Amino acid sequence: MDRAALARIVGADHVVVDPERRAAATVDWTGRVRGATPALVRPGSTAEVSAVLAHCHAEGLAVVPQGGNTGLVAGAVPQHGELVLDLRRLDHLGPVDPLARQVTVGAGVTLAALHAHAAAHGLRYAVDFGARDEATVGGSVATNAGGVHVLRWGTTRRQLAGIEAVLADGRVVSHLAGLDKDNTGYDLAGLLCGSEGTLAVVTAARVRLVPDEPEVAVGLVGVSSVADAVVVVAHLRELVPGLSAAELVLADGLDLVCRTFDRRPPLSAAWPAVVLVEARGREPQAEVLADALDAMAVGETAVAVEPARRAELWSYREDHTLAINTLGPPHKLDVTLPLPALAEFAAAVPDVVREVAPDAEVWLFGHLGDGNLHVNVTGVASDDEVVDDVVLRLVAARGGSISAEHGIGSLKRRWLHLSRSDVEIDAFRAIKQALDPRSVLNPNVLLPTAPGRPAPA
Ligand SMILES: Cc1cc2nc3c(=O)[nH]c(=O)nc-3n(C[C@H](O)[C@H](O)[C@H](O)COP(=O)(O)OP(=O)(O)OC[C@H]3O[C@@H](n4cnc5c(N)ncnc54)[C@H](O)[C@@H]3O)c2cc1C
Repeated sequence: MDRAALARIVGADHVVVDPERRAAATVDWTGRVRGATPALVRPGSTAEVSAVLAHCHAEGLAVVPQGGNTGLVAGAVPQHGELVLDLRRLDHLGPVDPLARQVTVGAGVTLAALHAHAAAHGLRYAVDFGARDEATVGGSVATNAGGVHVLRWGTTRRQLAGIEAVLADGRVVSHLAGLDKDNTGYDLAGLLCGSEGTLAVVTAARVRLVPDEPEVAVGLVGVSSVADAVVVVAHLRELVPGLSAAELVLADGLDLVCRTFDRRPPLSAAWPAVVLVEARGREPQAEVLADALDAMAVGETAVAVEPARRAELWSYREDHTLAINTLGPPHKLDVTLPLPALAEFAAAVPDVVREVAPDAEVWLFGHLGDGNLHVNVTGVASDDEVVDDVVLRLVAARGGSISAEHGIGSLKRRWLHLSRSDVEIDAFRAIKQALDPRSVLNPNVLLPTAPGRPAPA
């Protein structure tokens, strides 16, 4: 690494070699995966990103783009001594366009900052999830992040109206007009969204905003089984037009959250499964939600409209990730199942895991409305992949996807073939070869190494 050359581009202060700051940037959020890097390079503009990548391309230096480093498949962790390209200084918030309901923001803007910016104009950015204070727009575009509102507004790709990005050789592509109709060739924004930093570095995104509906209600619904939870959500979709979230937690996860954070259980009985539902609209939502739940004669409900109480109910779901992390680095397997197969999968997975790892504990929760379960396994060594293997094969056998929203990263690439055909993976390689022929960008992410072929590193 030519530190002086990089310092001439971004300034000496922004080539960080301090061991503590490097250490923080080379471990993933769960603590499961650790790597190393010679430096963090922190560009402050698209032009600086371009110059850094042109330099790395010329020198054949591998680069790992990094936003908030909250990713859960170790895609932002340099595991082979790559340079870390820290994009958080690209934190420009453009003016909100109230007519188009769009805004252009820098890749380093956090989701929380984007939410606050949109709220000041009576609008909302529909992508939201627990890591909102650290996760960046660039990282969420790179992973096509999902979150809690996918069932109503879709994933990040659906919010994307334009993109600015720097290709591996330093050339800039900028398509930020945000035109709803624009059939002028390949949709680069759609392609780069979900490409996990392997094809280009996102420097800015033009995103769609939705009206900030004033009436919000959140409810917890205790039910007797995961199968009942699936049915409840299917009915709520019909009965509650403003349904904006439908999340699942199980009794053991809820109990762990309560023990970890010293909280009282939210419902009077320990229901085997609890569904968290949220509805948003212009009219009051609590009655709509309560009437729908009454009509279904579910076990027990708690509905809240007051913001602090709503946040409290949400915390029982969102704090699962933090509570599980206190048990040691978990194996995080974020999967989607077809809804008719979800309950049977949830019942089968603990036995399948314990067959290969008798001491393991399995924690299930997730975005039920999208068929998305987060299978977390604790009590297994970080580098032991047997559990990952049996769970992902079970998912594939049930017709599901091995990654619902976190991506493939470096942790799941050896199983990509379970969800993608050889022809698709060949097409992926052709795209990678066309846009990053020297494999400078995230060489150890997404694409599996294939027998008889050089690894993309
Ligand atoms: C508590 C918690 C809850 C979470 N909940 C959800 C959830 O509900 N839904 C969900 O989808 N995810 C969730 N995640 C995962 C994570 O927050 C998302 O994947 C998020 O989009 C990552 O953003 P980031 O800025 O932290 O990206 P990073 O972790 O820094 O990077 C993620 C990937 O994107 C690449 N990348 C980062 N920035 C850029 C860029 N500007 N250009 C090109 N490539 C880039 C990296 O190389 C890496 O491959 C959660 C994580 C935590 C810790």
